[in-house]
Amino acid sequence: MRAFPSAVLSGVLASLLLTGTAAAGTHQLRPIPTGAAALTANPIYKTGELKSATCPERPVRDGDFKGATNYLNSVLRCLNTGWKRQFAAAKLPFAVAKLRTIRRSGMKTGCRTFPRDAQAIYCSKDKTIVFQLDKNVLTGTSDLFLLEAMAHEYGHHVQQLSGIMTTFDSRRYRTEQDYNAASRRLELQADCLSGAFIGSVWSSLKRPESDFAYLRRIATNSPTHGKAANYSYWLNRGFRAKGPGACNTFAARSRVS
Ligand SMILES: [Zn+2]
Repeated sequence: MRAFPSAVLSGVLASLLLTGTAAAGTHQLRPIPTGAAALTANPIYKTGELKSATCPERPVRDGDFKGATNYLNSVLRCLNTGWKRQFAAAKLPFAVAKLRTIRRSGMKTGCRTFPRDAQAIYCSKDKTIVFQLDKNVLTGTSDLFLLEAMAHEYGHHVQQLSGIMTTFDSRRYRTEQDYNAASRRLELQADCLSGAFIGSVWSSLKRPESDFAYLRRIATNSPTHGKAANYSYWLNRGFRAKGPGACNTFAARSRVS
């Protein structure tokens, strides 16, 4: 029989007691949800409005890659601050997302080669948003589109941290139609989460309503991202609600085509 010296044992007990105290406090975290509950009954939906925050935008000169990178980094700081509180409220573990800007598609990322048809992607492996600042974007740096695209990719980060993305990835889809239907719910939810963030910082952006109205018009129909009208609907729904509770696309019966 092995006996523990009593001093060591009491040390173990003390640490157990301390753990117990911490667990009973406000920092108790729950396991990351899995399965259907992760999609339709995620605790992140019950965290209320994102706290109104200031996220003043610095002007960027057109063509200024470094300036645009700095701008996106300041938006990222606002996103990390705002969403960190929601994860604390949901009692789910939080980690910040990172940003990498690139000048053209075809570059290697932590997940895959950057696709030709994308402006930005989120890589869950290294929790990094990769944003393509090509000539086209750099000629319209005052567009609210940059902030919206960041907030959309951050929506995928929120989905990753809350178990939604892992559940989506682990499911088997029998047909392309099945996959596309699930992908639309995932993407429209990211649009809604983007809208929720924009709504929470809207007053600090000092932009006219027409800038948001413009955002609602820029999507095109896509089998994996949904119809333009549904993008507009979910973006606006999140914007008005200012929180993820409005973004349960996985339980929605309509507007997910
Ligand atoms: Zn997306």
